[in-house]
Amino acid sequence: MNANELKITDLRVADIDGLPKHMILLKIYTNDPDIVGYGEVRDASSATYAKMLKSRLVGENPLNVEKLFNRIKQFGGHSRQGGGVSGIEIALWDIIGKFYRVPVYQLLGGKYRDKVRIYCDTDVEGKHTGTDMGNALKKRVKQGFTFLKMDLGIELLYDEPGTLNAPLGMIEDMKKYSMKAICHQSGSIDKSLMFGKNYDIFTIPHYATGIHLTEKGQEYLEDYVKQVRDVIGNEVPLAIDHFGHVAIEDAIKFSKRLEKYNIAWMEDLTPWQNTKDIKKFADNSFVPICTGEDIYLAENFEDVIKAGINTIHPDVLTVGGLGEMKKVGELCEKYGASLAIHMAESPIGFMAAIHAAAAIRNILAVEFHSVDHPEWFNLVNPTIKLENGFMKVPDAPGLGIESLNEELIEKFKKADCGKPWASTDEWNGEWSNDREWS
Ligand SMILES: [Mg+2]
Repeated sequence: MNANELKITDLRVADIDGLPKHMILLKIYTNDPDIVGYGEVRDASSATYAKMLKSRLVGENPLNVEKLFNRIKQFGGHSRQGGGVSGIEIALWDIIGKFYRVPVYQLLGGKYRDKVRIYCDTDVEGKHTGTDMGNALKKRVKQGFTFLKMDLGIELLYDEPGTLNAPLGMIEDMKKYSMKAICHQSGSIDKSLMFGKNYDIFTIPHYATGIHLTEKGQEYLEDYVKQVRDVIGNEVPLAIDHFGHVAIEDAIKFSKRLEKYNIAWMEDLTPWQNTKDIKKFADNSFVPICTGEDIYLAENFEDVIKAGINTIHPDVLTVGGLGEMKKVGELCEKYGASLAIHMAESPIGFMAAIHAAAAIRNILAVEFHSVDHPEWFNLVNPTIKLENGFMKVPDAPGLGIESLNEELIEKFKKADCGKPWASTDEWNGEWSNDREWS
């Protein structure tokens, strides 16, 4: 088929859950039956963010990725709302690669590396010690991983008397309503968290909870980190996430205790929009600070980096896709920040992250959440194979995914969502006057 004749004909989705998170897989069909583009909406999100854009894409030539991205980008937003635009942009790059028979990294300008370092997010269920966490992390090192991350937060203190200072009753509310959200690493945030008091508690920003760590609480967490380092040693990088929704001053105070433990970064210590608190941390701490997984569009990273973020952590399924990820890479170079890629999604989002990481000049690592879910690796053909904590950059056309494992998609389909790849015809008539000025 001539390039000018290629057209988008349909867009469909499949919601799956349990590997480990709620993931929304996306197919963009063309008038060439051999060319289907794969994309993905951000985890724990809504397929509506992609389906609402279908009528703006059908009939258009998918090879014009920048033109189509600029048409739909006004319908994306931060965090999960970026998932529709981002997933579609990735599927369009996949189509272009398949049509011209080149890998996506080549379309992005070529590759800086043949394999990408993977860093492994690790958690231990329930009440546990730093030694337990150290042992879980040591297992990752034995599996070949060369960069580690763990959660370290105030939920470890909930059952330790005298470790937290907060408006009386607040910690009980956090335990009652927000525990499921805090302990979601091995699962997905579900709808029940988004209603009533759950929603109120879940969405209080760090600076507004009124929660502080006591001296005893800080000692407890420092001892936890010491136990971890006693098991894994001091040589492997160790990042920390989910410190908890506490004031930035508490994070700064605690970070002084962390200086001797070689922490790669502390992540999302304040809402990323709060550049005042980012600057305060950066000005007063020697532990690197990281954020970015909820930021839509490269242009929104600039003020955050300038405030003093050391490691920028975008998600390819929120930032706007591969083109925006490349631009974030350029911003990191301009301001001297390091870049790691947040990734908690299916092999489609993973492969998009791998192609981006191959095509960006400086990259620390791509995140990974699915080591303990063997079926995750089989969701696509060819299956995903990590080698000693690295992922080889594939040379096959597009993202390098030949087909999806439809049997597994059926097996893991999300109960309260429609059938995988069901018709989206009800979205064919969706439209508005999309001009953003008069
Ligand atoms: Mg995170």
